[in-house]
Amino acid sequence: MKIHEFQAKEVLARFGVPVPQGIPVESAEAAADAFRRLAAPVAVVKAQIHAGGRGKAGGVKLVRSAQEAEAAARGMLGKVLVTYQTGPAGREVKRVLVEKGSEIARELYLAMAVDRAVGAPVLIASTEGGMEIEEVARRNPAAIQREICHPVKGILPFQVRRLAFDLGLGAQLKPAAAVIEGLSRAFFALDCSIAEINPLIVTKAGEVMALDAKINFDSNALFRHKDLMAYRDLNEEDPKEIEAAHHNLNYIALDGSIGCMVNGAGLAMATMDTIQLKGGKPANFLDVGGGANKEQVTNAFKILLSDRNVKGVLVNIFGGIMKCDTIAEGVIAAAREVHLAVPLVVRLEGTNVEQGRRLLQESGIRLQTAASLDEAAEKIVAQVR
Ligand code: GDP
Ligand code: MN
Repeated sequence: MKIHEFQAKEVLARFGVPVPQGIPVESAEAAADAFRRLAAPVAVVKAQIHAGGRGKAGGVKLVRSAQEAEAAARGMLGKVLVTYQTGPAGREVKRVLVEKGSEIARELYLAMAVDRAVGAPVLIASTEGGMEIEEVARRNPAAIQREICHPVKGILPFQVRRLAFDLGLGAQLKPAAAVIEGLSRAFFALDCSIAEINPLIVTKAGEVMALDAKINFDSNALFRHKDLMAYRDLNEEDPKEIEAAHHNLNYIALDGSIGCMVNGAGLAMATMDTIQLKGGKPANFLDVGGGANKEQVTNAFKILLSDRNVKGVLVNIFGGIMKCDTIAEGVIAAAREVHLAVPLVVRLEGTNVEQGRRLLQESGIRLQTAASLDEAAEKIVAQVR
């Protein structure tokens, strides 16, 4: 689960990481008011979307008066911001953070993520902050320091000091250690998948603080952190994915034209691969699960068809826990209920497959059946072409 910058800063502050004072607002008038309340000569108005790269895209503006804050907020709110991380469609800005301006002496990079190769969380630091870490990794990999953390004990004091010195923060050892330890404690305590501060700044007065923050939580661990659910912003999520989650369907929207309804994640992956192999593009990943019933099949159909890019549907279901005739009944009922208007190819295999196929053929619904995954993929690709 992703959260906004202002929320990530709230989280980090709870773990002792200094952040600039800021007020999230949803209107231009409130932005002007926030500027006055901050009572600082300079403030920053920052678009709150679940993506970075806002600075270069006009989503971060320095302002010197309430009027300027209002104008900057008006220029962002309700507009679509396109950054290198949002993709060409961009994201609508519904909220801005008005923050006390900081006088920056240095911009650094500090993040924690799980290193799958090592099998442990790793702290990543660089003196080249404020820019994409991927870019630094390409251009100047020597500028990136890594500290592998003990998976239970977390980062150890000598590693904290070594990182602080690597970052050139020897003169600010105490505040630097507070930030590094705070980031690490937050990461472990809240089951983050990534926690990133970019830039971590040193101010002209010598303070060390998080000027920007990004945190993703491991969704599989959210049951342990019910309070974090308050941070969820449904505006930032695909409505089809939200609807699918309501029905216990594992659905991920993609950008192709063939809607897929499959049971089992492995079969779903194989189906997507085979579609690609035959020259088509899947519109989604959808695993209806081993025990999919008629309601779930119907809901899955509705979600698939609410995607305007879907020009055809491929159903590939293996009757194991559920029998093929039951699945066929579900498909038929769903196709009738949603008035299916795009080509449909169904491949069933497993228990009671003959009964299932017969039901489909006798249903009067316009569909093609296929005996193998290859054949099914070929047929649907030919139909949408
Ligand atoms: P991102 O582009 O989405 O990662 O947004 P950031 O929050 O990282 O801001 C981008 C850049 O704006 C930073 O790297 C800073 O250079 C600049 N910036 C942000 N806040 C301030 C501030 O308070 N004072 C100054 N001088 N620059 C800022
Ligand atoms: Mn940033």
